[in-house]
Amino acid sequence: MRLYLSLSQAVAALSLSTLGGLAPSKCLSSSQMTSASHFGYGSVNTPGSGYVLLHHVMGETDGDRGIWSYVEGGMGSVSLAISKAAQEAGAHIVTGAEELVPENVLPNDFLHAVKNLDYSSGTTKINLAVKSLPQFRCCNLCHPDAGPQHMGTIHIGSESMEEIDSACQDAVNGLPSRRPIIEMTIPSVLDKTISPPGKHVINLFIQYTPYKPSDGSWEDPAYRESFAQRCFMLIDEYSPGFSSSVIGYDMLTPPDLEREIGLTGGNIFHGAMGLDSLFLMRPLKGWSNYRTPVQGLYLCGSGAHPGGGVMGAPGRNAAHEVLKDFKELKPLK
Ligand SMILES: Cc1cc2nc3c(=O)[nH]c(=O)nc-3n(C[C@H](O)[C@H](O)[C@H](O)COP(=O)(O)OP(=O)(O)OC[C@H]3O[C@@H](n4cnc5c(N)ncnc54)[C@H](O)[C@@H]3O)c2cc1C
Repeated sequence: MRLYLSLSQAVAALSLSTLGGLAPSKCLSSSQMTSASHFGYGSVNTPGSGYVLLHHVMGETDGDRGIWSYVEGGMGSVSLAISKAAQEAGAHIVTGAEELVPENVLPNDFLHAVKNLDYSSGTTKINLAVKSLPQFRCCNLCHPDAGPQHMGTIHIGSESMEEIDSACQDAVNGLPSRRPIIEMTIPSVLDKTISPPGKHVINLFIQYTPYKPSDGSWEDPAYRESFAQRCFMLIDEYSPGFSSSVIGYDMLTPPDLEREIGLTGGNIFHGAMGLDSLFLMRPLKGWSNYRTPVQGLYLCGSGAHPGGGVMGAPGRNAAHEVLKDFKELKPLK
């Protein structure tokens, strides 16, 4: 317990700005730090953002720590693979259930605590189809083929901690960032199954966009279009001609993520990963053991410890608890 407290206290105390002093260059540090701001309206000065950065780099791919991967066929391939394995093992999967847990079976204090969790989010996703790959000014290259510069995460508009902070402050004031922080990925340079030859798929992970902006509405097509164009024009600064390469796009603001994917508040991690919602406090104090007040109902997703991301850890931990409970069950006669 003593180790847990000292580690969590140390990590939690770190904010992006504290960590920034340790990084080798201003530009490198701020691009790394965007990962640390993936919670609610987290900014460079928010305590706990250091933990969120650790959360993003503690995983590994094929033994290489901190490396992220693309999934062939798109992210849906992960869910399909899991559902196939589960069904082969005898699981029965229900989708689109009207009501997973009726409210009246949960104790009031539990219900109240869940409803008061922080589901704030400043994330918008834009998925694009483009007719050519972006050519970046900084790479001084001009050929249509994919190069290493297209294969990782491309950070746009986060050249300094101040820039990230200023983008966040806009959202705190109720406005979509005037210069949004954009993380671009182009999975089709590695995965030929998701776009026709010569064309590409681009994903933009964008911060910060308030759920309910004070200067307009995400329901208004003109307002939506103007924000999308703001993002494309920012990319044009780094990659001239990007806007004119766009064939079409789909934009998911926080209310869209809530409506279409079922993410409360549009929060990408099923609840913000602030200091008050980590470790023994996730999802709620007293309920970090994957069980719920309903016997036989377990939590296995991002709302449970250790939190969001396509990492499988909450599911693995929950499965261990289920197995423990099964072992304690008396065999039926
Ligand atoms: C825009 C965006 C970008 C992200 N980027 C990354 C990234 O780059 N890397 C990363 O690791 N993570 C990323 N994440 C986070 C990651 O996607 C989530 O943490 C992860 O998918 C959570 O997995 P889960 O199984 O807990 O829940 P989910 O993937 O949300 O799955 C929950 C499922 O339950 C279903 N469901 C909900 N209600 C019902 C019901 N009543 N009946 C039946 N089914 C129901 C939903 O339809 C959904 O399929 C991102 C998330 C978003 C939104």
